[in-house]
Amino acid sequence: MNRILVAGAGPVGLTAALALARRGRRVTVLEAGDALAGQSRASTFHPPTLEMLDDLGVAGELHERGLVSPTFAYRDRRAGLVALLDLAVLAGDTRYPYRLQCEQSKLTPILLDHLLRHDGCEVHFGWPVAGIAQEPGRVTAIAADGRTLDGRWLIGADGAHSATRRALAVDFAGITYPERFLVASVHDELTGWLDGLAAVNYVYDPVEWCVLLRTPDRWRVLLPTPDGTPDSAELERLPARLLTIHDPGRPWRIAHAGMYRVHQRVAATFRAGRVLLAGDAAHVNNPLGGLGMNSGIHDAVAYAKALAGDDDAAVTAAAAERRRIALEYVQSVSHQNYERMRDADPAARAAHLETLRATAADPARARAALLKSSMIASLRPVAA
Ligand SMILES: Cc1cc2nc3c(=O)[nH]c(=O)nc-3n(C[C@H](O)[C@H](O)[C@H](O)COP(=O)(O)OP(=O)(O)OC[C@H]3O[C@@H](n4cnc5c(N)ncnc54)[C@H](O)[C@@H]3O)c2cc1C
Repeated sequence: MNRILVAGAGPVGLTAALALARRGRRVTVLEAGDALAGQSRASTFHPPTLEMLDDLGVAGELHERGLVSPTFAYRDRRAGLVALLDLAVLAGDTRYPYRLQCEQSKLTPILLDHLLRHDGCEVHFGWPVAGIAQEPGRVTAIAADGRTLDGRWLIGADGAHSATRRALAVDFAGITYPERFLVASVHDELTGWLDGLAAVNYVYDPVEWCVLLRTPDRWRVLLPTPDGTPDSAELERLPARLLTIHDPGRPWRIAHAGMYRVHQRVAATFRAGRVLLAGDAAHVNNPLGGLGMNSGIHDAVAYAKALAGDDDAAVTAAAAERRRIALEYVQSVSHQNYERMRDADPAARAAHLETLRATAADPARARAALLKSSMIASLRPVAA
């Protein structure tokens, strides 16, 4: 009965489960799928997330599978490289002054492996949570086929379409962007094609803004795509769009391409009785800046600390604090990133690019900007 239930074996649910297991709690993870998800969505781990994963004993294995990326770049479609930000200026602020580029699908098997080393911890695949019942001191997860499991607490980390959040009738207000995001991974090696390319590159343009990202396996390109056009038409024009980024004299070699609808939404509350919402179940945002999974992992670690002590006031405080950060930091930074990359006002865009150049050239300004973009400032006070 002291068992803690976790809905969802994504990066957030498994981090919460491992963090609880390491604090001596018995955990059961309920995963709808028959296996861990293989999709590689998130690919950037920020410094504080690496610190947390290190505390959980998994950062070493993640580094073996990832790519250390000390810099990232802002570019302009026409002008090329604008500014290269170097996270080395954060050496006094974090033991990981860089981003680690690694697909989320490489983290989850590591977390699962570590979780299952703890006595009393288990993962049930093929167990979709469909309903929740609560009474004093107890929460019951109800599967679609009527199976039930009791626990003292439940963390709903079952993704953006969270059945947990729906079962609790918690509102998920926000916006859906008027365009979709197309993500293509390619077999081509982009280094050398564009001058001064970093592992992560935000490319500004009023219409054809894009992100060029290196993962350990492949380069990825993220492009905006209009709403309402057939997927097939978008995929058909993708090769021509890629050639506008760089024309190597032959078509780019596309490995995979998919389209995502992107939202900015935050749940009305992150705690309802003995249930906490975490990760995409609690908040979703656009992928510009790589904040979604990272902030979900931060939720998981904060909740595990509060739940391990079984202190009701600490649980309430953790849920409220994580919601505040989702609203005040994650939503606002990710939306600002989106607005700036596509700013149609030439004067505003030029002024912003100039600010980026000046920031990169001044270590004190660069540190202040990087404390924010690396998420450190969202988690702890930072000395000037
Ligand atoms: C193109 C793209 C790029 C991105 N890049 C980044 C990035 O670089 N950095 C970053 O931080 N974030 C990024 N994100 C966001 C990131 O992918 C998500 O924030 C992250 O996956 C959230 O993790 P999660 O564990 O909360 O949810 P999910 O990864 O969605 O996992 C939820 C789990 O719950 C399971 N589940 C679903 N329903 C149920 C149910 N009813 N019962 C039980 N289990 C259930 C699912 O099968 C799944 O295993 C990106 C997203 C996209 C689309």
